[in-house]
Amino acid sequence: MDEIKNVKFWIFDLDNTLYPSSTNLFSRIDKLMASFITQHLNVNHEEAIQIKNDYFQKHGTTLNGLIKHHNIDPHHFLEFVHNIDYSFLNKNEKLNKEIKNLPGKKIIFTNGSKKHAKKVVSNLQLDENLFSIFDIVDSDFVPKPERSPYERLIKKYDIIPEQSIFFEDIARNLKPAHDLGMKTGWVINEDNWAKEGHDEDHVHFKIKELDHFLEQCNLLIK
Ligand SMILES: [Mg+2]
Repeated sequence: MDEIKNVKFWIFDLDNTLYPSSTNLFSRIDKLMASFITQHLNVNHEEAIQIKNDYFQKHGTTLNGLIKHHNIDPHHFLEFVHNIDYSFLNKNEKLNKEIKNLPGKKIIFTNGSKKHAKKVVSNLQLDENLFSIFDIVDSDFVPKPERSPYERLIKKYDIIPEQSIFFEDIARNLKPAHDLGMKTGWVINEDNWAKEGHDEDHVHFKIKELDHFLEQCNLLIK
């Protein structure tokens, strides 16, 4: 873990990383993606789920597949799928405290929208002022794990990859970060699809509890 001592840029995925997948928040978004597809592509529910999963696998996100194949309006899509109840997301005092103590810059790097990220952060009562948010609009709608959003992120915040670490629940999204020189932390959850590629060299740390891992980082840096 010694390499953590040099880290000045702490980059976090949002969904299922800053809050656990057991909250089922992301599965609510997932359901709305399926109904969006049902309505806009005029298919039944089973077909919609198939399309949703196929596009996620082939294009990084469902949205990216919908843009490429059906020319849908991404803003309309994002507004629709993030129309959920966030109130059950609980405050995470420990995570808040550990993130606050980390030295350097903290950035959320999400395939979702800024509005969604802000709602999550505010409901978790994570201090909103701690983070810069780099969203799918900043990525010009090209999602992780394509390489270009990582390059845009680095450029926007003058990130030195060798002094940064990226935390994600989807292991394949760590690959470009690793290839660009970042340290990577895979946040483990129960969803099988998130485990794709988790045993490969691009995963430096396997993390069961993000707050606990950050506590270790803070102790090491002191
Ligand atoms: Mg995620």
